[in-house]
Parts: sequence; C-alpha cells; structure tokens
Amino acid sequence: MGRRYICEYCDRSFVDELSARQKHLRSIQHIRKKQAYYSSIRDLKTLVEEESKKETCGRFQRTGECTFGEICVHSHYSPFELETFRRQLAEKEKSTCDVKTIANNLPSVEDWLAKVKKQTGTDPKTTDGLDSFYSPEASNPFLPVSLQKPPLEIFSSVSLTDWG
Ligand SMILES: [Zn+2]
Ligand SMILES: [Zn+2]
Repeated sequence: MGRRYICEYCDRSFVDELSARQKHLRSIQHIRKKQAYYSSIRDLKTLVEEESKKETCGRFQRTGECTFGEICVHSHYSPFELETFRRQLAEKEKSTCDVKTIANNLPSVEDWLAKVKKQTGTDPKTTDGLDSFYSPEASNPFLPVSLQKPPLEIFSSVSLTDWG
C-alpha cells in the first residue's frame, strides 16, 4: 500500500495521489471543515480580507503541501475557496440585513390597536370591540379584498356560463 495523505481538517486519509488530493482539497466538505477550523481562530471576514491580499501559494495549490505551513507569506486558499467564502459572507450579511429591515418595518401591536380603534371606532382590546371587529357580517377593512365579504349586488350582474 502506498503513502496516505492525511487531511488534518477532515480527519481522514486517502491514497496520496495528486489527483485525489486536489479533488479532496476542492471538495465542499473539505472547504467547510477548513473554514470551521479557521473560524474558531479568526472570523471569516478577516480571513477573506487577509487572504485576498496575498498571492496564491503555487506550491500549496499544486501539491496540497507547503513546508512553510501557517507562516507562509502566500495564501493557502485557492481563489476558488476565497470566492466561496466571499459568497457565504455576502449571503450571511444579506440575510441578517433582511431580517433587520423586516423587523424595523413591522408595526407594533400598539400601533395596530390604535389604528383599528381610529378606523372602526371600536376598541379591539375590549370584548365588544373584538366581536364587531371579527364579526363576519361587518366588512373588515383590514382584510384583503379577496377575504372580505362581497356585496350581494356583485352576483346579480354575473352571467353564469355552463362549464364543460
Ligand atoms: Zn480535507
Ligand atoms: Zn505556502
């Protein structure tokens, strides 16, 4: 049996062939493990910023090994990996941003109660107010048109066609 390449990030080993090693280093699973390993040391954003400034370490890219290891002045991340990180960062930032925007635009319950009170003249906090507010007979201005009770006149103007 030949030499085995041990990936310290993934905690697995495989036959040390250049193609197998390159394939592994580009696998999503490996990139995730490597990222998880580093995010416990420094955060992803710093990592991407720092690594983007460096030139890619040709030796590491070719062989998956570099004698300088962590102190190498070149980046041991491939442009592909950095691009993956950048995309993940952008997605993370976008999703937290979306949540914030939605949260900021949501009216508070107090606002809503005040609005109902103003528009219907009833206080939804009291049972009376609630009854008339949710009564199916009352046309409810807060429901979308499709959920409101249609006025009966609509049906008199509808001409019915037989289907089929
Ligand atoms: Zn790995
Ligand atoms: Zn290197």
